[in-house]
Amino acid sequence: MKTENTVEGKMEKIVSLCKRRGFIFQGSEIYGGLAGTFDYGPYGVTLKNNIKRLWWKRFVEDREDMYGVDAAILMNPKVWEASGHVAGFADPLVEDLKTHKRYRADHLLEDAGVDTKGMKATEMDALIKEKKIKSPEGNPLGEVRQFNMMFKTQIGATEDPTAVSYLRPETAGGIFVNYKNVLDSLHPKLPFGIAQIGKAFRNEIAPRDFIFRLRELEQMEIEFFVNPKEWEKWFAHFQAQVHEWTRDIGLADSHVHELEIAPADLAHYSKRTIDFEFDYPFGKKELYGLAYRTDFDLSAHTKSSRVDLSYFDEETKERLTPHVIEPSFGVDRTLLAILSDAYTEDTLGGETRTFLKLAPAVAPVRVAVFPLLKNKPELVAKAREVYAMLKKAIPNVEFDDNGNIGKRYRRQDEIGTPFCVTVDFETIEQGTGVALRDRDTGAQKRVKIEDLVSLVS
Ligand code: ATP
Repeated sequence: MKTENTVEGKMEKIVSLCKRRGFIFQGSEIYGGLAGTFDYGPYGVTLKNNIKRLWWKRFVEDREDMYGVDAAILMNPKVWEASGHVAGFADPLVEDLKTHKRYRADHLLEDAGVDTKGMKATEMDALIKEKKIKSPEGNPLGEVRQFNMMFKTQIGATEDPTAVSYLRPETAGGIFVNYKNVLDSLHPKLPFGIAQIGKAFRNEIAPRDFIFRLRELEQMEIEFFVNPKEWEKWFAHFQAQVHEWTRDIGLADSHVHELEIAPADLAHYSKRTIDFEFDYPFGKKELYGLAYRTDFDLSAHTKSSRVDLSYFDEETKERLTPHVIEPSFGVDRTLLAILSDAYTEDTLGGETRTFLKLAPAVAPVRVAVFPLLKNKPELVAKAREVYAMLKKAIPNVEFDDNGNIGKRYRRQDEIGTPFCVTVDFETIEQGTGVALRDRDTGAQKRVKIEDLVSLVS
């Protein structure tokens, strides 16, 4: 069996498979789409839910020091003033003077081989002029300016400026404003964390690379509150946890890289940041971030809200403002990384095939059950019985009697189903169990029906 994981035109193939098999569609497709938005179809949403469920289990349920929240997306705009987003959550924008299309100045410079890390808009502007960089259409570019990426919206029926709010650009804001609520209601002791999964919105200048850079995205974030003396220990803890997590979901270790952000390039709130980059088909790009945010957020919110967000340590009798370690995970970028590592083409039985080598824990369908022939009622009835039994124990089981058996295997291979079970004449006439097929090797073996649940779980 020949397996090639580096396939020519892999990204296009993944996008096409996602549409063909009901994973991901363009947002508002029948109206021509909406840039920066995608809709998850039946298999996509299951894959996404599996990711979120596994994450919640690892980072919340399996721990004693983590508390979950689900905060409102619309928040008091003062939250985003205090956090620095109103003033500074911006990307450098540059416009094609002929087409008026807008681009990220840093991306155009990077495409021209310039490292723009830590560069100000004025410096990028000077470089674009000096290097005579043109738009991708070959036209002259305007001045580089900072563009705030928050989506502004109006709250209620009044249209005065005080009614302005924003769709949250990250889920972290909803965690910080609930720090005191969690402290006062559940009385956790330091160190403890608050976790949240939810939508975030960024008016990206140039959304691109499928679900990598979206305007509506989903994040899984943790703010972990620690005594400042212990920040290094907890930073190291979450650094290791990120790698364990990427293994849980089946990403190859060799495709996940750490990038230590140089002190000069750190965000204003951070004393140390590691970006976790992944080898996507379009290059090595940020998958996750891990930041030591010091007491920046709690201090800023204390100052702005005038609510005391300090913590009293009963043991040491010390009052302090906790420091924060923030691991931040994008759901959509996780899903794309999973698809990218899982996409495989090989030859099986002399035929080329495409399949998703998904880790069983994330696969949208864990096991598919077929009757060998659709027009034999005794086979269909037995297959239905096996299906019902499996469905009780495992949520993602599919019954499939469409087309011939070869077509069914190909369909299940393409959506990454690890196991297929076929009920055939032997099952009924000789009571020798069913045929269990392994996705990766295509090998089949006969197994007892009563052993199925444990074999595929
Ligand atoms: P980038 O530099 O790629 O724009 P970022 O550094 O702005 O990303 P963070 O603010 O650290 O990203 O956001 C935390 C995580 O949220 C990222 O690591 C990524 O997984 C995810 N994320 C951020 N922006 C987007 C986006 N536009 N589309 C999809 N996921 C995103």
